[in-house]
Amino acid sequence: MKVHEYQAKELFAEYSIPVQQQEVVSDATAAGAAAERIGGEVVIKAQVLVGGRGKAGGVKLASSRNEAERKAGDILALTIKDLPVEKVLVAPAAEILQEYYLGMILDRSSKTIVLMISAEGGVDIEELAVSSPEKIHRLAINPVDGIDHTALGEILEQVFETEELRKQAEDTVEKLYRLFLEKDCSLVEINPYAKIENEQLVALDAKINFDDNALFKHPEVEQLKNPEEYSADEIEARKHGLSFVSLDGNIGCIVNGAGLAMATLDIVKLYGGDPANFLDVGGSSSPEKVLNALRIILGNDKVNGILINIFGGITRCDDIANGILMAMDQIMIEVPMVIRLIGTNDVEGRALLTERGFQVAERLSDAVEQVVKQV
Ligand code: GDP
Ligand code: MN
Repeated sequence: MKVHEYQAKELFAEYSIPVQQQEVVSDATAAGAAAERIGGEVVIKAQVLVGGRGKAGGVKLASSRNEAERKAGDILALTIKDLPVEKVLVAPAAEILQEYYLGMILDRSSKTIVLMISAEGGVDIEELAVSSPEKIHRLAINPVDGIDHTALGEILEQVFETEELRKQAEDTVEKLYRLFLEKDCSLVEINPYAKIENEQLVALDAKINFDDNALFKHPEVEQLKNPEEYSADEIEARKHGLSFVSLDGNIGCIVNGAGLAMATLDIVKLYGGDPANFLDVGGSSSPEKVLNALRIILGNDKVNGILINIFGGITRCDDIANGILMAMDQIMIEVPMVIRLIGTNDVEGRALLTERGFQVAERLSDAVEQVVKQV
């Protein structure tokens, strides 16, 4: 789960990580008023759940109420990487003396949290990682041992010029690490981590991704969830207990079991097709679930073919076939559909479907080939 910069900064503030005063508004007039309250030059920043806002024209400075109102209006009219800007953050414009980078990610392969620090922040860190990887200092933090302060000290020595800056950076790293662990993050990033007047380091940008699987432990985090992170069909699917991820293709897929669903997508690709979604109806695949799944899939205009791939393990295939038939009675399917059914009582199950004129397959490769040919 992602949150907006202003939400991440509120959390930073709770952990005493230095951030600036901020106001969040959703119209230009309110932005002007906020600018006046803050006083002096302000920065106005698009709040969208993607990075690269600066380059997209989503970050602007303003030195009067009128200018703030006008620039906020411009930003609120933007769509950045397909996301319409609905809110802007207004904060005092900092005079940036240097931009650093500070980030932590969960590294599943080394089973550690990797801290990354660079004296060249502000820029796209992914680009820097390719062009000058040596400029990003890394420190793996084993969660059992905690931060190795000697190793951290050596990195800070290379990145920050003065003892004063190093002290502040070390303090921020400790707090960020505590936040990372306590809130079950998968990524936290401060870019730029900026040196402003009076040798102060502040988080001028903030990005946090949370581990969805740990959200049940953190209702206070879950309530920060932004509906625009999920497509309308993803929200609908969640409501019906279906695990659904929308994709770009045209073949709607309904599968029971997440592993089988992944394998199905791979095989669709292998046969030259393009899946419209990942959808796991779960083990039981009741008629209601199949019906809800079909409704969600057919709500996507791009879908011009459907593949149902069901493995009957504990559930019997004839029950599943009856479930599919019940669902079909309640919905009009106007695109080609192929059903692959295998497992306990599959012969009976397939016979029930064939009798009613459905395209049925026993082998997954046959089913995929058939559907790909028809879309
Ligand atoms: P991103 O492009 O989505 O990562 O958005 P950022 O919050 O990182 O802003 C992009 C750039 O805008 C930063 O790298 C800064 O150079 C600039 N910026 C952001 N906040 C301020 C500010 O308070 N004052 C000034 N002068 N520049 C800022
Ligand atoms: Mn940034």
